[in-house]
Amino acid sequence: MSDSAPQLSFEFFPPRSAAQQVAFERARDRLATLQPAYMSVTFGAGGSTRDRTRETVLSIAEATGIEAAPHISCMAESDDDIEALLDDYRAHGIKRLVVLRGDRPSGSGAGVFPYAVDLVRFIRKRYGNTFHIEVACYPEHHPESRTPDDDLKHFRDKVAAGADGAITQYFFSADSYFRFVDEARSLGVSVPIVPGIMPITNYTGLARFSQMCGAEIPLWIAKRLKAWDDAGDRESIAAFGEDVVTELCRRLLDGGAPGLHFYTLNRARATLALCRNLGLDPQPAATGS
Ligand code: FAD
Repeated sequence: MSDSAPQLSFEFFPPRSAAQQVAFERARDRLATLQPAYMSVTFGAGGSTRDRTRETVLSIAEATGIEAAPHISCMAESDDDIEALLDDYRAHGIKRLVVLRGDRPSGSGAGVFPYAVDLVRFIRKRYGNTFHIEVACYPEHHPESRTPDDDLKHFRDKVAAGADGAITQYFFSADSYFRFVDEARSLGVSVPIVPGIMPITNYTGLARFSQMCGAEIPLWIAKRLKAWDDAGDRESIAAFGEDVVTELCRRLLDGGAPGLHFYTLNRARATLALCRNLGLDPQPAATGS
């Protein structure tokens, strides 16, 4: 790949069982062959996976040498908790964070900081430029936002507070991304806005998650996926999904997207196929899951 190749990054979740650990390590090692700029690791609702997020992040750095970035949320109980975690990451050489508000587990109140902007401010004040900070943004607008304009302004404020870059929620309409980027630029946001890409490999899980996070599955995609899902035809879903998402990524890159951030769900196959189709694999990829 040339120096001007788009920046790739891959997101994982912390494994919850021995079998998931094996699947994660396999996906991690296979995706490392694509030489991404970094790999990130989510945390569970309410920060419930804090220790596993930490272990997973440190294992990426150690096993692959690729930069690893923990997701950090506002859901800690105190400033001291967050400082202890960030001190620990700093001591282990972690230099990049994905900073989020997080979703509250049902029945619990807000964390120590009400919004991601507050946590970004805290980290900049306490740690200066120790960490490169990514934040989240929403081309189809965050489900809790009062209006799309409000959401955009909150995104602008988060960047003004010190974010170096942003990763979008996934979407299947390239136009929503291009419009969002134009609108953010017109508000003075100049940091890279990297589209988050969700490979399509099934229908039921994707529909449920999209409903929760406010991402639209266009009707022409949903109807096909649902029909194949009802018929138990996973191969058609995977082939169609690969086709649709490759085309989406191609449009995004042709239109100037600075990179692609893949929600891998700890599986390599679909992401490898997409990167291969886009000519982003530096070496021939093996097959398998
Ligand atoms: P914020 O930026 O704080 O925004 C949340 C809502 O509040 C928005 O509607 C915004 O418009 C509004 N808002 C912001 N500031 C203000 C203000 N000052 N006054 C009033 N309203 C305001 N979730 C997890 O649980 N774990 C993860 O690891 C995780 N990783 C993610 C990675 C990416 C790339 C993305 C896109 C999302 C991720 N999420 C994760 C989901 C995320 O935590 C949720 O979408 C959450 O609801 C919002 O997080 P945020 O950081 O965007 O919040």
